Amino acid sequence: TQSGHWLMRYDQELENRYLRRLSIITELKHCLQSEQSELSMVYQPKVALRERQVCSMEALIRWNSKVLGFVPPDEFIGIAEQAGLVEQVTSWVMNQTIRDIVSFRAQGYDFTVAMNLSTQDIQNAELLNRMHELLNVAGLQPGDLELEITESDLVSDASVAIENIRQLNSAGFRFAIDDFGTGYSSLAYLKDLPVHTIKIDKSFVLKLATDKNDQQIVKTVLSLAHIFGLSVVAEGVEDDTTLALLADWGCDIAQGYYISKPVAAPVLLEWLDSTPYNTQPQQGTS
Ligand code: C2E
Ligand code: MG
Ligand code: MG
Ligand code: MG
Repeated sequence: TQSGHWLMRYDQELENRYLRRLSIITELKHCLQSEQSELSMVYQPKVALRERQVCSMEALIRWNSKVLGFVPPDEFIGIAEQAGLVEQVTSWVMNQTIRDIVSFRAQGYDFTVAMNLSTQDIQNAELLNRMHELLNVAGLQPGDLELEITESDLVSDASVAIENIRQLNSAGFRFAIDDFGTGYSSLAYLKDLPVHTIKIDKSFVLKLATDKNDQQIVKTVLSLAHIFGLSVVAEGVEDDTTLALLADWGCDIAQGYYISKPVAAPVLLEWLDSTPYNTQPQQGTS
């Protein structure tokens, strides 16, 4: 019948989504167990606008699956959380990122690197201790690693998370609130937490050059954040007009395709050698 047909279509969609999830879980498990990893890290620079200087890099995971092709992190991180696999993913990210920071240092670049943590990670004291330990072993300081978390990690029933964040903060780790503006927290609330930086979500930044509403929102967030002593990163900067506006309004840091896309470590180092933004310190003798 007509309605039966409609139901079937609906079921088909559900089933497709279910199968996609299932194969992501299967393939991710497989890939986490195999030695020849399909995972890699890419790095995207952040530029301090006042100094016009590269100040930090965000580490972002990439998964190129032999079976599924490229799977975006927005898709598989959430599924990994639900399937109890995110701790393994984060462990991999931690190891690789710390190894890369050591290699950047060895080549004379000492910017901080920002790592994304998922909701479950911030409640996982054991994982966080291991991260601290790994840094120590690598001869790095907690301040060398910035941790990006999202608003919702702090808002909903998050006493464990907040306790862990306070502890890491006293140990010297710095936190940034990612995707700011998409959740429900207020800046007034953040000022009581050991958070130093907010990252304005790219949905407010992508069309900044032309969208008057976004302009108003970004200007307001900037002035409030500064009143509360928070540093502000704008993510998703894709054109020079947006970059100029942000600099004009006193935004502290910018990140986006206009500056650089996220790239593999060797490409990043090449970029650093040719960018118009100052990069710190230079290699010793060569
Ligand atoms: P995020 O942490 O908010 O990262 C910013 C995302 O915006 C990245 O997408 C980045 O490639 C993208 N982006 C940067 N500049 C621009 C721009 O100018 N225009 C546009 N359109 N996009 C831009 P990506 O790498 O696909 O990551 C998506 C999300 O997946 C991240 O959002 C983060 O929440 C999560 N993620 C990525 N890597 C990791 C990881 O290692 N661990 C965890 N837990 N989550 C990760
Ligand atoms: Mg991030
Ligand atoms: Mg973001
Ligand atoms: Mg995010």
